[in-house]
Amino acid sequence: MKKNDIYEITIEDIGNDGEGIGHIEGMAIFVKDTVVGDEAKVKLVKVKKNYAYGRLEEIIKPSPFRVNPVCANARRCGGCALMHMSYDKQLDYKWNKVKNCLERIGGVKDVASIMEPICGMKEPYHYRNKMQFPVGLDKEGNVQIGFYAGRTHSIIDLNECHIGHPVNDFLVKHLRGWLKKWQDKTGCFIYDEEKHQGLVRHILIRVGFTTGELMVCVIINGNGIGKYVGDIKAEEELRECIDEAVKQYNMNQAYATKDYFVEIKFTSLSVNINREKTNRILGDKCTTLWGNDYISDYIGDIKFNISPMSFYQVNPAQTKVLYDKAVDYAELNGDEVVWDMYCGIGTISLCLAKKARKVYGVEIVPQAIEDAKENAKLNDIDNTEFFCGKAEEVVPEFYQGALNKNVLMCDGAGVDNVNSGKHPDVIVVDPPRKGCDSVLLDTIENMAPKRLVYVSCDPATLARDVKILVEKGFVLKKVGVVDQFGHSTHVECVTLLQRKNT
Ligand code: SAH
Repeated sequence: MKKNDIYEITIEDIGNDGEGIGHIEGMAIFVKDTVVGDEAKVKLVKVKKNYAYGRLEEIIKPSPFRVNPVCANARRCGGCALMHMSYDKQLDYKWNKVKNCLERIGGVKDVASIMEPICGMKEPYHYRNKMQFPVGLDKEGNVQIGFYAGRTHSIIDLNECHIGHPVNDFLVKHLRGWLKKWQDKTGCFIYDEEKHQGLVRHILIRVGFTTGELMVCVIINGNGIGKYVGDIKAEEELRECIDEAVKQYNMNQAYATKDYFVEIKFTSLSVNINREKTNRILGDKCTTLWGNDYISDYIGDIKFNISPMSFYQVNPAQTKVLYDKAVDYAELNGDEVVWDMYCGIGTISLCLAKKARKVYGVEIVPQAIEDAKENAKLNDIDNTEFFCGKAEEVVPEFYQGALNKNVLMCDGAGVDNVNSGKHPDVIVVDPPRKGCDSVLLDTIENMAPKRLVYVSCDPATLARDVKILVEKGFVLKKVGVVDQFGHSTHVECVTLLQRKNT
């Protein structure tokens, strides 16, 4: 068996990244773009000792779970790895991914008996409220704006994307014209990743789905758009081009009749400065060029202001489902003290605060904490307190400080003494993909909450942490899976861990 050999195989299983798995002479072959049940002709592209990677050459007999992707770029694009699989089958795959992680990594027995059915989307299209489009030049020097092809940094020029808000398609078309014009004028308007030269790197677009408010943030390798060209025209033309795109979207009858349609209002334009040679998209500094520093959106009846650099869940409809589940698992009756760790702009904190006596939040991004404080005020919620810093530093300090000094540290209404903060009834954690820091898990053990609600965007690190928490005396009671990211391999879950001996 060697590279470039062609075989016919049947896909029998699905791997962690959504790839199909078949066998040749007992050896596992991983084939992207295939579905369980496909009979396919594959070309071996990499042969290892115990397994090989194959490239799909031809479908001989399609699986009953195979569908035609709505997007012409689905196979190349790094975003929608599962678009060729029926949505129901995608949901099965995600539920099983969580189950397998909890069993194999987490060591949880019979986990299926405590797992709820997955909550899928009603309509798994046009659900994302945020997109970050890379900008670059192709070999011929044409301006490209779109998405990275899977596992590369080559940009697929975008005409339409079926998972983003449809206004994006209008914006990208107009922005491409603007970028091209200024590239032609200056010769160095577009960022070149290899040479680390040029100005515009990415464009971030965020839409408040309930308010229609639109934020555009241009990520640049420089200090500003106006200064760079010697006069301010590039910036002015940017505003005009966004206005035009928004006007065309709002007037387009094909969208105006859709259920989700709200009139788009362009309200915030900013630049983010990233002068580093790095794969990280955002730099540390944002400057508002025009309009507000943030856009607003609602989750249920709570209003949120969101800055360009703050984390905000990307799928607002499913976020409501996720947060309702988290609040439900917290089992609040109005008298609890709760921590919301990795709280972002305070979204979960404020949902909890309506049903608890006091909520403490902690988050690493200063801008997000500013937003969280503002959001509490905006909604007349006065029983929250937010701390900025690493959860694994702030929470142990709070716990130690409280222990040593026994000082009052709360400043909201319904004020408690700090003992209730160091021994809360409920802790919610919602860490990034790498999961919780072990120092934080140790402190959570000491804080000894009755319930721990763990919201996770990566079942593998969730399972790792569940294993540690079970060793610390928690029992995994419930697992909910919510599909926030249709057509991608990502999955979000929320789990309830209860402390023994409470
Ligand atoms: N619960 C929020 C945010 C979840 S995303 C929501 O649902 O919107 C995870 C958050 O953790 C991000 O806001 C990120 O900035 C923050 N974060 C990452 N590392 C952190 C750390 N070490 N300590 C505290 N917050 C952290």
